[in-house]
Amino acid sequence: MAYDPQNIFARILRGEIPCIPVHEDAHTLAFMDIMPQADGHTLVIPREPAETIFDLSPEAAHALIASTQKVARAVRAALEAPGILLAQVNGAAAGQTVPHVHFHIIPRRGGEPLGLHAA
Ligand code: 5GP
Repeated sequence: MAYDPQNIFARILRGEIPCIPVHEDAHTLAFMDIMPQADGHTLVIPREPAETIFDLSPEAAHALIASTQKVARAVRAALEAPGILLAQVNGAAAGQTVPHVHFHIIPRRGGEPLGLHAA
């Protein structure tokens, strides 16, 4: 499917919609999820327009993973979280609601059911 430049994360990247940024670099932006499933729930997105992980260039995929690792490390330290769930969803059938590729970083403390919407 063609990338929709009006999706909410594209609009956040263009500064048309506010977010709470926690990290940005030349290739990625990380910001707080508007409906967090746990304290510290953070999203990391590439600047490259891509609907799913399958649409990303190898360079953008590499930058996205590197940024996700960096931000997840910082979230883990800031919240003293014993566990971090990384979730990345591709396609409406899998539960993707925003058609711009993203990683979820969700702190876990143990005892929660596993899964993105389990908290
Ligand atoms: P998905 O279900 O596509 O894997 O995840 C999309 C995520 O984007 C959800 O966790 C949802 O709460 C978050 N989200 C949707 N709209 C906005 C928004 O306008 N701002 C922010 N910060 N997060 C959003």
